[in-house]
Amino acid sequence: MAVVAPVLALQDNATAGSQAPFFLRADELPQQGNSNMSTSPPLASRIQGAIYGLATCDALGGPVEFRKRGSFPKVISMQPNDNFGLVAGCFTDDTSMALCLAHSLVENNGKTDTADQVQKYIAWWQRGYQSSTGMCFDIGMSTMGTLDSWNDQLNHAEFDTLAPNSAARAAVVTEIQRQITANFGRPVFCGNGSLMRLIPVSLVARSETEAVELAKASSLPTHPHPRCFQACGLYAPLAYKALNGTSKDELATSLATSIVAQSNQLDPVLRERLQNYHTRQDWQTQPSENIRSSGYVVDSIEAALWAFFSTDTFEEGAIAAVNLGDDADTIGAIYGGLAGAFYGIETVPKAWRDAMQRVDLLEDVVRKLIAHHEKT
Ligand SMILES: [Mg+2]
Repeated sequence: MAVVAPVLALQDNATAGSQAPFFLRADELPQQGNSNMSTSPPLASRIQGAIYGLATCDALGGPVEFRKRGSFPKVISMQPNDNFGLVAGCFTDDTSMALCLAHSLVENNGKTDTADQVQKYIAWWQRGYQSSTGMCFDIGMSTMGTLDSWNDQLNHAEFDTLAPNSAARAAVVTEIQRQITANFGRPVFCGNGSLMRLIPVSLVARSETEAVELAKASSLPTHPHPRCFQACGLYAPLAYKALNGTSKDELATSLATSIVAQSNQLDPVLRERLQNYHTRQDWQTQPSENIRSSGYVVDSIEAALWAFFSTDTFEEGAIAAVNLGDDADTIGAIYGGLAGAFYGIETVPKAWRDAMQRVDLLEDVVRKLIAHHEKT
């Protein structure tokens, strides 16, 4: 659940720059095709699908965030977000933070640099970096609390004067993280804030194992409780495998296998919620009445995976996700990144893509992620 943050600064609101030739701009993409395509989407389509899937579903759900399920007309198109006074097509904190994470991962050759990730999140929070409006207009409580601590400590340590990759720099980060874990590693801070921004991890990882490692490392700075980083550790390899063409039946089975394999190490609350889903059919037969769509990370991962596994097209799943209400934008974002990686960009409705604000920010990240894949 997000809270409104004070407006601290404006950012450069420059429009889109030149486009790279190896992927399609939103206005160049084909009309939405049959999502049950007989041919598997290429990797570039899946990467672009993941970023646009994240952003479109975030923007689609934003207007009904905080709303009780069934209390609003069914969402099927982009609407203005009256929660924050936004025009239609504005992505929110979920996408902005994911774009920050993507830039950090790419700039660090697909590796984790905790301080760099945090500094980009702070730039979003305080200066509107990677925002659809030029400012931070929503931020989760745990995220704001932890970023405030990071900001104080990094400034106090005169962090920028320390050499990159130095032991002194690493020691400062380790100590701040220790304090963050002590102060925010409690169940009350088990929101979905690290899961909602996670998809870039799966787009740069070179293996399922690396996806799990990057996922944990990306969660710890703001959501250090095992329930949070382990939820990320379940989602990231799923999205990695979706990106690489694994079927939904296999994805559902692999998730169940992973939960069994980690049984003793897995957070018991997370395990109890997910352990009864053995096959895709178990998700398909779960009625929506049993799915909670709050900002609690256990509710959020279940809701997003339910939308993914119980539907057959990107659009159908997106509509199922955001119409759950409550933390609708974030359920949409978690769903949309995974589903976009699975289905590819061609299945993300063109009307939704065309309605998006700041597509230049999305396309910049897509271009860099594809270039990262091409060079490594
Ligand atoms: Mg949001």
